[in-house]
Amino acid sequence: MDFKEKYSEFFENLDPKYFNEERFVPAVGPEDAKFVLIGEAPGANEVEEGEPFVGRAGNRMDEILHKIGVDRDELYITNLVKIRPPDNRDPKKDEIKAWAPLLEKELENIDPEAIVTLGNFASREMLDTSKGISKIHGRTFRKNGWKIMPVYHPAATLYDRSKGPELEKDLRKAFGKRDAGQQSLKDL
Ligand code: URA
Repeated sequence: MDFKEKYSEFFENLDPKYFNEERFVPAVGPEDAKFVLIGEAPGANEVEEGEPFVGRAGNRMDEILHKIGVDRDELYITNLVKIRPPDNRDPKKDEIKAWAPLLEKELENIDPEAIVTLGNFASREMLDTSKGISKIHGRTFRKNGWKIMPVYHPAATLYDRSKGPELEKDLRKAFGKRDAGQQSLKDL
């Protein structure tokens, strides 16, 4: 079933000022995914391809996922806001609020083992905190019955290369993937 059909009740009730068909990007991924990844909002590449995280930030994320042995196709990937904000600006509070009931429904439907929040916006929203991502990334939180693991946004690692290894480390932890150099007791 098409995303909009599946969540038709939400779309019927969404204030039209928060919707724009030309800038809309639905979530992607299997309904039985163990992990949900939450970003901020789609960008130009995402609108063009109709899928979240397919631009530069997405490529960076894919590189890391590949490196740590996680198949992107097994993840449910979504955004707080499903409309590309104008001029690449950050999503606004009222936009995040307007789209929040949909995210809630998606999470109820997928019922993941864990949620990985990418960057400040998704982490603050899901954890209901004002703490910055540099303070909380790599830790595991329980909130509203969900296991939530905030990590740096992959776009942040493009501007600050030193954040790349941190993101890799945090994602390894989130997905339960060991470092290549690490041995488990089973291997000994
Ligand atoms: N950044 C996000 O937060 N979401 C996307 O879908 C793409 C880039």
